[in-house]
Amino acid sequence: MPPATVIDLTHPLIPGKVPAWPGHPCYNASLNSSLANGEFANVHALTIGTHTGTHLDAPYHFFMDGTTVDRLDLTLLTAAPAVVADVRHRGAHERIAWEDLSAAAEEVRRRKARVLLLCTGWSRQWTQPDYSDHPWLDADAARRIMELDVRVIGVDTMSPDEVAPGKDCAHVHRVVLGSGGIIVENLKGLDELVDSGWKNVTVSLLPLRLDGCDGSPLRAVAWDGTL
Ligand SMILES: [Zn+2]
Repeated sequence: MPPATVIDLTHPLIPGKVPAWPGHPCYNASLNSSLANGEFANVHALTIGTHTGTHLDAPYHFFMDGTTVDRLDLTLLTAAPAVVADVRHRGAHERIAWEDLSAAAEEVRRRKARVLLLCTGWSRQWTQPDYSDHPWLDADAARRIMELDVRVIGVDTMSPDEVAPGKDCAHVHRVVLGSGGIIVENLKGLDELVDSGWKNVTVSLLPLRLDGCDGSPLRAVAWDGTL
């Protein structure tokens, strides 16, 4: 049975409206051939980075010997039970601590979930100048999440780490990717997911099969699983 309702957890890719990490490629889509110009079909050319829009980071992003995106375990990313932690009480540049995750940790154990999504509500700031001022996950909390056998941590911000000039912005990346886990960034709609009241949130987070690459844009969707 297909799910009755699917929540799209993916930001739209619109040229000029996709925040990018400094130095990363700016997203663009332009018509390469065009029906309006009398050509055979509409075909776009894309300028895109491996970390453009809603995307995942594979271990190879920070580790030379880490798994590349084409070799990730798809059983973790396909129709996977997921727990959503509501951390919307944390504001700009605030730390999300282990204590904020106790209810979610209990739920992870109960459902044996390997995907944990952190709902900060910050996806509302997408395309706003303060998008990078989001709350961030404590590295020790990330370690304890991984000890629950979680393998995928997803956030509705540009990073699970604090983004601040002059600071090391990769503590959580090293913890998660360093233990073979996966990070999903720039999700949207997690607040909708929390407010849905769904008891068996299930997600698919499938990347492109980019040979040898460190990450990939993806289409993230959620539904209320019945299994
Ligand atoms: Zn990334």
